Amino acid sequence: MAAKLSDTGREFSEYQEYTEGLIDFAADNKRDASGSREFAGRCCKKRTMNDLPFWKSKTLAEMTVAEWESLCDGCGLCCLNKIEEWDSGDIYFTSVSCKLLDGESCRCSSYENRWDFVPDCVQLTKENVPDIAWLPPTCGYRLVNEGRDLYWWHPLVSGDPATVHAAGISARGRAINENEIDLDDLEDYVVDWPLTVGEEKDDEDA
Ligand code: SF4
Ligand code: SF4
Repeated sequence: MAAKLSDTGREFSEYQEYTEGLIDFAADNKRDASGSREFAGRCCKKRTMNDLPFWKSKTLAEMTVAEWESLCDGCGLCCLNKIEEWDSGDIYFTSVSCKLLDGESCRCSSYENRWDFVPDCVQLTKENVPDIAWLPPTCGYRLVNEGRDLYWWHPLVSGDPATVHAAGISARGRAINENEIDLDDLEDYVVDWPLTVGEEKDDEDA
């Protein structure tokens, strides 16, 4: 099981502050050294790293806490139970969620105190993200760690926390809470969609 990383509202408002900073930066750049003349609209302005959003210009290790937290798209996929095969070490996703996962919001229902109830909940860190093979391919942390861009449905790109659900990426509507099943039957719930939802969307968008 994996950790969810923070409250969406807080993440987004912090990101808005960040983007407003970028807008101020862009406005400042419209003035020349004397402050009396603006660059022409068609002037070919060199793009710098400062023009890029943080997930394109920083490594995971370089991110602030707020930036790091906002990378979670709220899909809830990492909060699905997984089965590890003894001999091979292979890991399989199931459609059975952690008992603390809210199936509608796909957020942890007791994030601050989660370890009191789920001691094996894994906290993602800049150190362990590269080593966690089961992170879904659509996970913001995995994408950035692999040098890839975020998808259009990521709240940082769309500006809307609901797009991860609207795009059919999240666990909403297709996971069952572990409290509702006999965990001895977990193998009956093995699924592969947490690993393929991004591919399906790539195909649809192509
Ligand atoms: S306790 Fe469960 S629902 Fe909460 S973050 Fe961890 S895995 Fe997800
Ligand atoms: S899999 Fe989804 S919910 Fe889990 S950390 Fe990654 S983006 Fe967040």
